[in-house]
Parts: sequence; structure tokens; C-alpha cells
Amino acid sequence: MRSTDETIQFGGDRDRSRVRETDTTSKAIPPVADSRAPRAPRIDAVQVLDALRNAIAVVGSDWRIQHLNRQWERIFGRPSADVVRRDLFTAFPFFADEHTATMLRSARLDGAARHFDLELRSGSAVERYGVRVVCSDERLIIEVSEARGASSGDAGGDYDAAEAASLRRLARQMAAVSDTRELLELLCTAASEQCNATGAAVLRGTGEEGEVVSAAGAMTLGLERRFPLEGSVAQEALQSRGVVSVEEFTVSQRPLARIVPDLRIGPMLAAPLIAHDRLLGVLTVVRGERSPAFSPREAQRLAVIADHAALAMWKAELLEQSRAADRAKGRFLATISHELRTPLTALTGYEELLADEVMGPLTEPQTDVVERMRSVTHHLTVMIEEVLAFSSIEAGREIVRATDFLAADLIRAAMAIVEPLARQKRLRLASDLPADPIRLTSDIDKVRQILVNLAGNAVKFTEQGEVRISLSEGHTTGEVAGGERREIRFAVSDTGAGIAPEDARRLFRPFSQVDAGLTRRHGGTGLGLYISQRLAQLLGGRIDVHSELGSGSTFTLVLPAD
Ligand code: ADP
Repeated sequence: MRSTDETIQFGGDRDRSRVRETDTTSKAIPPVADSRAPRAPRIDAVQVLDALRNAIAVVGSDWRIQHLNRQWERIFGRPSADVVRRDLFTAFPFFADEHTATMLRSARLDGAARHFDLELRSGSAVERYGVRVVCSDERLIIEVSEARGASSGDAGGDYDAAEAASLRRLARQMAAVSDTRELLELLCTAASEQCNATGAAVLRGTGEEGEVVSAAGAMTLGLERRFPLEGSVAQEALQSRGVVSVEEFTVSQRPLARIVPDLRIGPMLAAPLIAHDRLLGVLTVVRGERSPAFSPREAQRLAVIADHAALAMWKAELLEQSRAADRAKGRFLATISHELRTPLTALTGYEELLADEVMGPLTEPQTDVVERMRSVTHHLTVMIEEVLAFSSIEAGREIVRATDFLAADLIRAAMAIVEPLARQKRLRLASDLPADPIRLTSDIDKVRQILVNLAGNAVKFTEQGEVRISLSEGHTTGEVAGGERREIRFAVSDTGAGIAPEDARRLFRPFSQVDAGLTRRHGGTGLGLYISQRLAQLLGGRIDVHSELGSGSTFTLVLPAD
């Protein structure tokens, strides 16, 4: 039977009388049996505790301190007489910190040992300690080791350069992975290696349940298994927001150990994955049954890995969300523009019937109105075609169909399309074509679309002067793998307002316009240049821009000759 009296029994002459001595049966350290000696020698518990290298505190179930050894007095600078029988958290407030207090309480609740780190600040210096807590007969035995030369033999304290470099390498590797699944696999393998473990896993909690979402080594058996969070190491790590250490996972019958009895796990460390104050899961590393416990240094290493991993997971999640949003936007645009195109096509047909006077003769004002209707309908159709082209490029549906054609023919076709607007604005439309015809092999529809976009913009953004399309042939400049290549240049220049250098690059982004306000003078979607650049790239070429504010712009489509 367990005694309800919360005192500790110390034998020998040096018994410190601060500790009440009432129970002489259950709490004293039993005499050591010796067959030769007629009487067993008494062992002085106080002397034994004082001889230990680590600081020891014994705390009763009412959280009052029952005993401190000499090392404790030395490390924490408080004489035993001042604090014995006082509340632990009042006497040593750093134990009241959320993570530490959770560790102490859970050790008392389930009787399993806990390991964790304690960081104490004095001025700018930070002292690190490793703490081990065990519960014996409702008493907590708190053992504090100074991080340097910790009892595990794994010298703790500051990370050495090699360790820091390897953690940095891991952080960089994780940051480079954008797929969450791949990231978790990398994390499990790396955490297992770095903490000298035989397995690792990432657990996620949703509501009342936890799930093993990724696993390596000895934890693979638990992959995709669900378990109640209540009473689990994962829940402890999530609640305390610190590293939790368990000595015998399977023996302590944690929920996951009950659900997957074949796991046969001994020591386990669990670190919460927290990024931007959001709990993303728990990272655990494990060793087989009866293996040595993880050291405070390894716990510290796991905490660092978990911090880096949480940021990488956060980034991967955001990226996944933005890709999903992008896909949804693409689908929305494609559906809407497709639905709009059908009635617009019908409208164009009716307008043509009216304009051709099939429905009867029109008066002059009626002809004028029909012309305006046709112009607006055409404008809308062009915009919708642009949005459809954008969706198609984004979805990777554009295919190159190459044919052989004369470049000059294409320039004439593009000029014919923009000619009505140029005439309306009284702009001169000119071309410079070389004497020798230039042939090229490319997708004629896509090249035409690019030229019409560039020439259309030139006319749209020029108020007086001219728009000129020049054709020339040259060779690639700079280093090109496989030697120089022949290229064809279509330069569309205008005498318009020009573009400031800081704006020029941005205009090739989708939906980007220099004058994007509601009061802008020119209509348009801001997609033309983006589509043109993407199509040019699809054809193995590019669009260069040269422009100065006030002196016009030149957009050059450069294509490989074959
Ligand atoms: P949109 O013409 O539908 O606005 P574009 O992608 O074709 O979309 O062009 C993006 C922006 O680039 C235009 O809104 C305009 O501000 C600028 N731009 C394009 N071509 C010219 C040009 N030739 N001269 C001046 N600005 C231009």
C-alpha cells in the first residue's frame, strides 16, 4: 500500500532534520543484502544524493519541495533551508513555464519518465540544462544535469560547427522541396539520422484523432494509422509546444502503441511543428525497446530540425494553396469566356445581317448605330479570345504546328488587320522589308497572333506619327550551345508615349498595364504581351523591348529561322 504521507525517509547521522520523518516503512531506501554480514549496513540517502553529479529535487504530490541535494543548492544558488516545504513553482518559478509544468504534470499522471531542456537566462547569457523527471510513489524526482558533459555521454551545450553545418544543409534541402509529401519523407529520414534513431514519423492531429502521415524506419509500421489524441505523446507535444521525451513508448501503452502493438518502440522524442504560430503536426524519432534514452542534446537537435521543417511545410502548403487557386482561376476564366463567346458569335451574325441590309434597307443613322455595335462586339470578342488563349497557355494546351512560309506575307496580313484603326487615328503604317524574301518554318497562326498583338498595341498607344514593322535576318548574339543560330527579327516600332524602364519588364506579366486605374484611357485585358511572350517562347524565340518615355517603343519578335 502506498503511504499518503508525503515525507521522505533518510537514514544515517547526517539526516537533514528539515525533512519530516514519519514513515519508516515504504520510503526509505532498503538495506542492501549482504550474506556475510549479519546486519545490513544502513545507507544514508542524503549522502548518496549529495555525492551525485546531477542536481536532484524531491517534490511531494502537493508540489512542495521535500529535499534538495547539494548540487541543486550549488546550481540554483538557493540553500535547502530556504525552500524545503515550499511550493516548487514559487520557489523556482522557471518550472512554472508552460512546457516545463506540462512535463512535470504528465510525468506525475502516467508515471513515465520525461526528459526536456531547461534554459535559464542571466543577463545576455543562456544556461542550458537537461532535465529528467520520474515519478515514484507520487513523489517527483527531478534530476537536472548541466548541459556540458551531460550524463548521457553525448556532450551537450553549444552545437559544434559540423552539426550546425549539417542542420543548415538539411534546412536548405527542405526549403528546396515544394511537394509536401516529398518534404515529409525527407524530414523523417533526416530526423532519424540526425538524432541517431531507428525510425521517425510525422503525426498530424485533427479534432480528437491523430494520424501518422509520413514515416521512416521503425515507424513505417504505423504509417496512415489513426489513434486517439487523448493521452498521446503527440498531444503532449502539441499542448506543451516543446520537445517531449518518453523512455518506454510501447510499455507505457500510449494510444498509438495500443493500436499498432507490433511497433515495439522504446525511447521516443516528439517535437511540435509550429510555423507562424500554427501547429502543423508533430515530428517524432524513436529507438527500439530497451535502447538508451535520447540525450538532451538530441532533443535539442530535434527541436531545431522541427523548426526548420515547420517553415518548409508552411511554404509548401502556401504554394499548394496558390497552385490550387491558380487552377480554379484558370477553370473559371475558361468557362466564363467560353460561355460568353457563344452569344457574342450570334450577336456578330445578327449585326452582319443588319449591316448587309438583309433585313431591309437602313437609314444613315441606323447604319451608324450598327457600325458602332459591330465595333463594340469586335472589341469584346478580341478580349474573350485573349482570355481563352491565356487559359489554354496556362493549362499547357497550346501545340506548335510548324509550316514553311514567307515572313513578308505575314507582315502584310498583320498590317491589314490593324490598318482600319491606324487610318481612324491618322497614323502612318509602314514596313521595311529586305529585298531578298525571307522564309521561315514556324507556327504561322501563332506568329500572326503575336504580330497582330504588337502592331495593335503600337497603334493603340500612339497618338500621332507612325507605326513601322521591319523585317531582318541575323545571327544569335552571345554564347549559344551548338554555335551561332540564324534568327528572324520582326521589329514593331511606334512614335507613341513610350514606356519607363521600370514598367517595361512588368508588362510581360499577365493582367499588367502601365495605366491600370479605373480612369485609364485605353481598354484591354493586360494579357496581350504576356500571351505574345509565352507564344514566342513556345516557338523557341522571345520578345525584346526597347523603349524610352516620350520617344516611342520598339517591340521585337525574335524567332529561330528553322
Ligand atoms: P493591353 O493592351 O490589353 O492593355 P498588353 O499586355 O498588350 O495588354 O499590354 C500591356 C500594357 O503595356 C498596356 O496596357 C500598355 O500600358 C503597355 N504597352 C504595350 N504596348 C505598348 C506600346 N507600343 N506603347 C506604349 N505602351 C505599351
